[in-house]
Amino acid sequence: MAIMVRHLQQEGAGKVLVLDWDAHHGDGTQSIFYEDPSVLFTSIHQRPLYPGSGGIEETGEAAGLGYSVNMPVPPGTGDESYHYLFDTVIAPLAEEFSPDLIAISAGQDVHFTEPLASLAVTARGYAELVRKAVNLAERLCSGRVVAVLEGGYSVEGGLPYTNLGVVAALAGLSLENIREPAVYGDAFLRAYDPSAHARVCETAGKLRRLLASHWNCFS
Ligand SMILES: [Zn+2]
Repeated sequence: MAIMVRHLQQEGAGKVLVLDWDAHHGDGTQSIFYEDPSVLFTSIHQRPLYPGSGGIEETGEAAGLGYSVNMPVPPGTGDESYHYLFDTVIAPLAEEFSPDLIAISAGQDVHFTEPLASLAVTARGYAELVRKAVNLAERLCSGRVVAVLEGGYSVEGGLPYTNLGVVAALAGLSLENIREPAVYGDAFLRAYDPSAHARVCETAGKLRRLLASHWNCFS
């Protein structure tokens, strides 16, 4: 992701918004752009989980202060929380930052069948998130959006459905029929924790207060 972003900046893409929703914190991307205000790095990730970084207090350094935005979420977090974070943190920031490109670190290890993480996003949830990112890109940067497949280890489980959802959303196709086979129902019930959403809302509130001195949308 970081190499692509730098390359595109050399080719003329000015400001880049990175949306990293891989289950693991995007510590490498964050570290590379930590002092760089031309890249707004936003990451939703499970915590606790490897690599352990990505607390809300990690907000960047020097000129990059306020340009690293971390949204740790607990195990069991589902679609509604990802959409809540997109709507109340990522979208307002994007409007104010006004990127020339939106680059998605599309980790598919947030799906409820994922063996290496404990989150509960559905294929439809993924697709709707990408659709929101596409809409944002159309409004803010002439539709310039790119997605990079990062994690996703449920190769015979959720991965084909999440990838289908991501591609359908990028292609502007209907998302109505993006869903897992009904046989996956039990796996979803095992992974999903409805109580996670309240904790996500609380973290988002703290994060907005923490960033209020850097971003008018939160002040
Ligand atoms: Zn991952």
